Amino acid sequence: MRCPFCGSEEHHVLDSRPARGGEAVRRRRECEACLRRFTTFEAPEVPRLLVVKRDGTREEFDREKVLRGMIVACGKRPVSLESLRDSAERIERDVYSTFEDEVPSGEVGERVIAELMALDTVAYIRFASVYRQFASVDDFAEALRLCAARGFGRPNATQYDRLVSTEAAGSTA
Ligand SMILES: [Zn+2]
Repeated sequence: MRCPFCGSEEHHVLDSRPARGGEAVRRRRECEACLRRFTTFEAPEVPRLLVVKRDGTREEFDREKVLRGMIVACGKRPVSLESLRDSAERIERDVYSTFEDEVPSGEVGERVIAELMALDTVAYIRFASVYRQFASVDDFAEALRLCAARGFGRPNATQYDRLVSTEAAGSTA
């Protein structure tokens, strides 16, 4: 950083204090070359992450949108809003720490599926069927495979078959 008056890079901090409600640090500096004083602000860059959809379009990652999707999937299921908020926050933290600038929408979807799998099997099946556009057993199996790969286990075969047939009947009605 250069002194705005003379361009020297030699300067020191006289005073440092929080600014913008604690979101930034304001530093009063003195140039060692021209002895004039100036102020700098240091603030974290607002993180941005764009979700790349299947058709190639992009939109900003939105935790609220993820949460809304999960709330819909958990309709009439015994899942608290608090646990859904926790899930949405975990997903947000995970995608921001794993990806920079852009994340494929499938990566977000997989994480939602994994979170729902851990919370409620019916909600998980419901989301997986909608998320993958059509309700086929293959898709459910694929979603299960992804969850198993992430260490989330799977429902037993009887439970799974019942859920799939219930879901399939419901979706054609
Ligand atoms: Zn200077």
